[in-house]
Amino acid sequence: MTPMPNIQIILNQELFTHQNIVKLLNADGDDRILLFEKAAEIKQKYIGNKVHLRGLIELTNKCTKNCYYCGIGASNKNVNRFMVSLQEVEKAMQFAYDNNYGSIVIQSGELQGEEFISIIEKILISAKKIGKGTLGVTLSCGEQTIETYQRWKSAGAHRYLLRIEASNKELYYKLHPNNLKHDFGIRLQALKNLQKCGYQTGTGVMIGLPFQTIEDLANDLLFMRHFDIDMCGMGPYIEHADTELYKYKHLVPSVSKRVDLSLKMIAILRIMMKDVNIAATTAMQTLIDGGREMVLKSGANIMMPNTTPGNYREQYSLYKGKPGLNEEAEDSKQSIEALINRAGCVVGYGEQGNSRHFKRRIVKQLAT
Ligand code: SAM
Repeated sequence: MTPMPNIQIILNQELFTHQNIVKLLNADGDDRILLFEKAAEIKQKYIGNKVHLRGLIELTNKCTKNCYYCGIGASNKNVNRFMVSLQEVEKAMQFAYDNNYGSIVIQSGELQGEEFISIIEKILISAKKIGKGTLGVTLSCGEQTIETYQRWKSAGAHRYLLRIEASNKELYYKLHPNNLKHDFGIRLQALKNLQKCGYQTGTGVMIGLPFQTIEDLANDLLFMRHFDIDMCGMGPYIEHADTELYKYKHLVPSVSKRVDLSLKMIAILRIMMKDVNIAATTAMQTLIDGGREMVLKSGANIMMPNTTPGNYREQYSLYKGKPGLNEEAEDSKQSIEALINRAGCVVGYGEQGNSRHFKRRIVKQLAT
């Protein structure tokens, strides 16, 4: 058997193999430092030190799904269901625009049907008016038909984030019921449809799930490269007592392991896909104080300050301990800027911060 190359040799390779990624995920001591140094170098070269903001609006915790890890699943009776009104969404979008955030994200539980489709459409039309056509809009509203994706794109959405959650089909079905509502093939097809519709397309996974192996995580990164994603939102899995998966909490890696793996996943992805947008997730902040700063230093370049009206935040409880529940948007904005500065970065105020990878992908597509 040929010996495994050392970390320095791996880091200088053009393309990582599965074995290389596993070695990087297991790196410790000086090897670990080398990994993060390489990710920082690549980030500086291809992205720079600007962090772009997306004002996050958690539109509704109503959901028709029952993902085993998620606190707002349909069968959780301990959740008061809400839908933020159009007027309130407009106020939040106005706040994002007035504060030069450059972009917003609308995230929601998974709903289908004309009523929901047209709620999103109205929000998109308002976003255009409020932002005078300059506000970037990301949607994260789950699996929809290609016609719906097209409709929302025509109404003004630019980007769409749909996490594959776990790219290993067997693991996926340990995290979701095995039925049409939670079909791995349908989720994958939805991602493909988003690319087809011309969205800047993002995906991601949870890190540190019960039953998940280091080999799975390496495959998740290869999946993202193979899929040629433009954006990534991935972060640690956090337990929630009102979910199916909670009974396997003894299989969840320690907090420090999940933090370490999340940082490494982001650093490795930054090296593998140099110009994609990578978000510093709230889940990371929940697990460890200063978590998002760490992620920015490891390769992330996007932050999503919560601009959901304060009275709803507590009910958008995907996992235990989600921060910002009692903060109003103004407080979040100030703390976000401070933490970005602490990470040695600056805020790209007033800029959409679109995925550079997307632009390159489209030019490549047009040339072929
Ligand atoms: N329903 C939409 C979808 O499926 O794309 C978006 C909303 S969903 C609540 C947003 C994300 O929250 C999911 O993609 C999932 O990865 C994450 N999430 C849910 N429960 C979580 C948990 N317990 N720990 C960490 N992340 C979680």
